Amino acid sequence: MALVRCPRCDEDEELFGSRDGDTITVTCGSCGCVWDRDLTPRCPTCGRDDVRAAYRAILDKSRGTQLSIQSMRLVYLCPDCDREQLAAYLRSNTPLAPDELPVDGD
Ligand SMILES: [Zn+2]
Ligand SMILES: [Zn+2]
Repeated sequence: MALVRCPRCDEDEELFGSRDGDTITVTCGSCGCVWDRDLTPRCPTCGRDDVRAAYRAILDKSRGTQLSIQSMRLVYLCPDCDREQLAAYLRSNTPLAPDELPVDGD
């Protein structure tokens, strides 16, 4: 019985979990999506539980090459606290920009 399933591509076998504190982070071996397992989606700011799932791009940078989208991370946007980001996401239908871009080294 598949307890975990990729929210993006529905994969239920090629999944790899890693523990980070109290959180199990699952990575899909099929499409590269990353998400936290067994978390009730809830806004950390106001506690709303009718948050909306969205994908955030995870960029990585190899030496001397351009930034590229490595994978996607499932995140939840609150209709209140993340209103602008959520509206932009729904409008563009593309993954959210990463929280932070890899910084150019010295
Ligand atoms: Zn997947
Ligand atoms: Zn909120």
